[in-house]
Amino acid sequence: MSSAVRLFIIGDSDQVYRLPAARYARMLRHPANYPITSLANRRVRCAEAVVELRSRKAVRVVRMLFWNATFDEHGVRHQGPHCSTGVASGTDLWKPAAQNAATCVMWGSLKTNVAYCPECCTSLRKMDLSAGF
Ligand SMILES: [Zn+2]
Repeated sequence: MSSAVRLFIIGDSDQVYRLPAARYARMLRHPANYPITSLANRRVRCAEAVVELRSRKAVRVVRMLFWNATFDEHGVRHQGPHCSTGVASGTDLWKPAAQNAATCVMWGSLKTNVAYCPECCTSLRKMDLSAGF
């Protein structure tokens, strides 16, 4: 058995558009180089289907995932700012100044930061929740 990933964007009127997986992978690696200008300033619903292939044809859906994706004014997918460490208080987080100042990898997908800030490191540590929160 082999499998493949199919990606879809669901439009405002519930139209379904297929997004080629190779293009999506390029968008994740280099978002600014692969904008979707028709989605500029929009938040859209997305779906990922892992399908089972037989003779290169999809015969069964193995798993479905759903999420929302936000695109900036250029049609670039961006999932930040999740962590604004390094950004001065009062800075508009959606402006380039914030983008340039952010220092944590959790800022978002357009940054090339590779290190977590101390606060995110704390959040990422294993926590024993067996006794509740
Ligand atoms: Zn952080």
